[in-house]
This record gives sequence, C-alpha cells and structure tokens, in this order.
Amino acid sequence: MSLVLQRTDLDVVGAELTVDLPGGTTVPFAHLDYAATAPCVRAAADAVQGLLPWYGSVHRGTGIRSQTSTLEYERARDLVGEFVGARAGDTVVFTRNTTDALNLLARALPAGVTTIVFDGEHHANLLPWHRPLRLPTPSSPDEAVAAVEQALRELRGPALVAVTGASNVTGEIWPVRRLADVAHRYGARIVVDAAQLAPHSPVDLATLGADYLALSGHKLYAPFGSGVLAGRADWLDAAPPYLSGGGASTAVGATAGDVTWAHGPSRHEAGTPNLLGAVSLAAVCAALLRTDRAALHEREQELLGRLRDGLAGVPGVRPVSVFGERQPRVGIVSLALPGHDPAVIADRLAREYGLGVRAGLFCAHPLTRRLTGDTGTGGCGSATPGLLRASFGLGTSDSDVDRLVVALTELTSGPA
Ligand code: PLP
Repeated sequence: MSLVLQRTDLDVVGAELTVDLPGGTTVPFAHLDYAATAPCVRAAADAVQGLLPWYGSVHRGTGIRSQTSTLEYERARDLVGEFVGARAGDTVVFTRNTTDALNLLARALPAGVTTIVFDGEHHANLLPWHRPLRLPTPSSPDEAVAAVEQALRELRGPALVAVTGASNVTGEIWPVRRLADVAHRYGARIVVDAAQLAPHSPVDLATLGADYLALSGHKLYAPFGSGVLAGRADWLDAAPPYLSGGGASTAVGATAGDVTWAHGPSRHEAGTPNLLGAVSLAAVCAALLRTDRAALHEREQELLGRLRDGLAGVPGVRPVSVFGERQPRVGIVSLALPGHDPAVIADRLAREYGLGVRAGLFCAHPLTRRLTGDTGTGGCGSATPGLLRASFGLGTSDSDVDRLVVALTELTSGPA
C-alpha cells in the first residue's frame, strides 16, 4: 500500500522508476533517502509546467510575462507564509535552501547576540553562527531545556537559541516549544531548523513558539534551489543586505557607498530570484495545507513500526537515538551496523536490491561520532564509517520497508 492512494497533487513524480539487478530481474526503485532530497510531487511539477509559458523577470519590467511572474512570486511568498503561520511583523525571505536561510540569519544578528546551539545539529545549523555557545548534545528533552536555561541564566546578554525541529540523523523531534518558552522567558529568541520537520509535520511559527524558521524546498517535494527563512522582520530589516546588488537597493548614487537599501524581503533577495523554485515550493505548501497531515503522520508511524519490528529480528543492526526509543520521531532511522561498513552495505543495497539509502556522517559529524561510539577528535578526515540511514516520505510503501528488512538481513548475516 502506498501512502497516497489516488492520483493527487502529492503523488510522487518518478514513482515508476525501476532498476535492473545483476541477476537479470527488474524491480521498482525504492527511494529511502527522503531526508537528503525528496522526489518532486505532482503539485510542484504542475506549477513549473504551468508557469513555463509565462515566466519572465520578477519585479523588473512591465510586460505581461514580468507582471505575471511578479504576481506569482509574491503569491508564492504569501502561500509559504501561510504554511509556516507567518504573523504580523514576520517576513518571509526566499533563499536557496536551509543552509542559506540560516547563514542569512547569522549575518543579520545584531551585535552582541550569542547563539546557543547543541553540538548535535546538522552543520547547516552549527557552522554559520559566529562564536556560538556550543552545548553538548543532551540525553533527554528535559536535559535539553535545563541546559539552555542554565546557559541563558549565565549569559545574561541577548541570545538566539538555534535548534533543529527533527534530527536528520535519528529522526527524533526536539522539544522546540519548551525551548522556545525558556528562551522567551530570558528575553532570547529561537530559530528552528525545520529542514526535516517541515516535510513530516505542520510547522506553525506560533505553535512552535519560534521566532524564525528555516526550510528547504528540495526536502519538501519541490525542486532544488528554493528555501525559506521566515520570522521576525526587525533584525532582518536592520541588517546589511545578505547579498548586495539589484533588487536589494532602491536608490544608488554616483559615489561608492551612496545606496539606499530596500526594506522587507527584497533587502535580502538581491539578483533575479528563483521564480520557478518559489512557485513550485508554494504549490507543495498549498497541497500539504489541504491534506490531512495527521493521517500522513500516522501512516509514517506505521512504516517506522514496521521497520522497527522487522529489524528486531536482525542481529547486529541497531537503530540509534539520542533521547531513547520512545521519543516521537519523523520517518528517519539511522542504523549502527557493528562489524560492517555502512558505505559498502548502502552500495550493495542500491546495486543488488534497488534500494536507495544513505551512509556516512550525514553532515552532523559530532552527533554521528557520538552515536557510533567514536570519541576521537578525528576531525573531518577521520575514518569513522558512520551509520546507515533510511528515511521515508510520501511515496514510501510497506513493500519498500519489507525489502529493506530482507536485504539488511541478508547483507549483515554474511561476512563483514
Ligand atoms: N538542517 C537539517 C536538519 C538537514 O537535514 C539539512 C540537510 O540535510 C540541512 C539543514 C541543510 O539543508 P540544505 O542542504 O537543503 O541547505
């Protein structure tokens, strides 16, 4: 059974891909790497197709193409704003992806703001911050909240808490609301890296208690190249433009430095924007808003349970977690395979079974090292083999999960 039963806006494009296996059989390709990049859905593809005959330059030009494009671009901004529950005083800036969005916020921080971040974050939420206060990854949500509270108490200055909504390594959902409440009690702000949360769960700024939220289109069933930073406008409006150039400036004089910068999202969107990316992302957001997301979540939990039950009988394959088995999670599972090289297993899963997963450190080196018991300071060149990750999305079926269980059983029962 597939997650989406009828042809809908959320049908995965390319779901019929097949792979020829060495023995001469052909099988459907099972994409189990949604956490890296999700395939496009019909809504995104239709939005691109629909705009191709019309598109032109956004915010530049009077012709019908330009006018249509400007309208569609700003409509896309409104739709994405609706998806994230943008409030009065919030802005929605189109970026290239989550990494870009978090870098933009890092550049926009007023002087003196310290960013507090756990070291288990994806590098996109670990590296952009200037001299962050890095906390060790906690072992429970309570510990996470207590650690942030202690840091804020000791800091006594303006702060931004930067936290993931859901881990790209373990799939665990982080206690964002509780962290937001603590942050706000101390007058701090919070940004949520929603790259992995948004594809699986509603991401409403007010419900999360977030001041800012970042996400990527390509993890949310839209094509590459679009992302979003949404949240409070004041810091962004006061900051120097993220990129300098046309679109971000409203008036430029004859001398260097004589420039008036735009306010609002344009300030950080210099250059010709990615119209097709924005419009296709917005189309997915609109489709998801029309969908029973609780049912999608439930279905994903079934798939997780199916994988967990299947793997329970496979010796030597161990799902990893930070907060423990019971922590709510999205459809992402990373497995430790003691005695086996995850990269080799991932490669064989692709070639011999038609299954696409991911192996390695998942751009979260400190966390993955900790989860694999590698306490060395190894650095980026360390030979830690890491983990094997399977991640689910709209097109994942029971049979995909069953095939993964069978394949892992076979591959891990042989010699390493
Ligand atoms: N944050 C998390 C939790 C992620 O999983 C990823 C990508 O895997 C990113 C940020 C970065 O996303 P992007 O590469 O789209 O910028």
